[in-house]
Amino acid sequence: MNTIQLKRFKTLFEYQLQPSEQLPPQEGSDPSEVQDDLDRASLIQEQLLSDTMQKRKAVSILSAKAALGRIRAGTFGICEECENEIDLRRLEIQPTTVFCIQCQEEQERQSRFMAVS
Ligand SMILES: [Zn+2]
Repeated sequence: MNTIQLKRFKTLFEYQLQPSEQLPPQEGSDPSEVQDDLDRASLIQEQLLSDTMQKRKAVSILSAKAALGRIRAGTFGICEECENEIDLRRLEIQPTTVFCIQCQEEQERQSRFMAVS
């Protein structure tokens, strides 16, 4: 991987680490204050959804931090298992991956084998 490509990934991860703007609390957003049952149900659902999204965001922040660490250490794009270069097209799709396609498939095969036995 050349420095331009590396820099592009670095920018991508740094962008992911930027704090997202906090939306001001909306009036009547507390489910206990909403009288209509339907409204309350959809509000609760919305809150659950944003909860899931926050958890997902927390995970993506962690993997972005780890990836930035690998960029600094010079090991970004190198498979943790076999130490070969990870295919760039694979990194484009899944920038935080630490395995090349062969090792990833090998791991999936093993976990399937474990599940069967
Ligand atoms: Zn590998």
